[in-house]
Amino acid sequence: MARVRRRTKVAKNKESVEDKPKPVEAKAQNLPGVQNPIKKKKNKGQKKKFLKLEAKAAELGVTLDSLLPKTEDEMLKRLEGGHFRYINEQLYMKTSKEAKKMFEEDPSAFDQYHAGYRDQAKKWPLNPVNVIIQQLNKRKELVIADMGCGDAKVAECLGHNNTVHSFDLVSKKPNVVACDMSHVPLEKGTCDVVIFCLSLMGTNTNEFLREAHRILKTDGVLKIAEVCSRFGNVRAFMRGVGKMGFEFVRSKTMQDYFVLFDFKKVGKIEHKRPTGLELKPCMYKKR
Ligand code: SAH
Repeated sequence: MARVRRRTKVAKNKESVEDKPKPVEAKAQNLPGVQNPIKKKKNKGQKKKFLKLEAKAAELGVTLDSLLPKTEDEMLKRLEGGHFRYINEQLYMKTSKEAKKMFEEDPSAFDQYHAGYRDQAKKWPLNPVNVIIQQLNKRKELVIADMGCGDAKVAECLGHNNTVHSFDLVSKKPNVVACDMSHVPLEKGTCDVVIFCLSLMGTNTNEFLREAHRILKTDGVLKIAEVCSRFGNVRAFMRGVGKMGFEFVRSKTMQDYFVLFDFKKVGKIEHKRPTGLELKPCMYKKR
């Protein structure tokens, strides 16, 4: 009798748990941002967590919503894209000294940045580095400094007939020297051409130009390729470069998106920190 009674009790308990209707709101507890009016206390904690997640996503340049209903692969791609935009922004907002420190503290950030950069470059109808290579292709025995060389494409394409020094904050290839391009290990007056192709990223543009001036021979060529939207006032920029001992030679706008300047080293630096050199950061749009 006792056995029968116990079994009935268990069955009754089971039944009572399973049959108890769950509040609809409770099912939605795991979804961020869904309010549950019944369990207000628990909700407060969740809301805090949600806001934290939302802030983190905003920091990476994505919205939480854009991440949620995706496949794992898509989510990963979006996070990588967000990380690329975050690093890119940092590079434009910091001095080159701070940028170098950032890569030293997180070496994987450099690879992430370049994976994102390559992704972006694939979408451009034209890459300014190829235009520069084409322009210098017919020349021989030049000494070229490629400042912020990235994948060192200039050395790859022109290195056979010329001497190319490739500099970047991090070296991923044996022919790339890791350094801040505001101080490169070259003697003064040794280069025929100095290239900044989409690499004037730090806020200390004047120091990059001062270094270019130091390593260039008199009449040596300074090539600057940049995104047009970075210039608030192109004329003021050109005047600023002029104050750093260069003369304007020519400029070429490409696809209404990039501009390529040629300057020539003509004289001494008049101003170490002229106005007009401030460039706006180049922010890439979300995919
Ligand atoms: N010039 C290359 C890469 C452009 S991406 C090309 O056109 O393909 C910009 C590059 O500049 C990045 O690799 C970045 O690390 C580098 N860079 C930015 N600031 C730098 C600095 N202060 N010193 C050296 N490299 C720098």
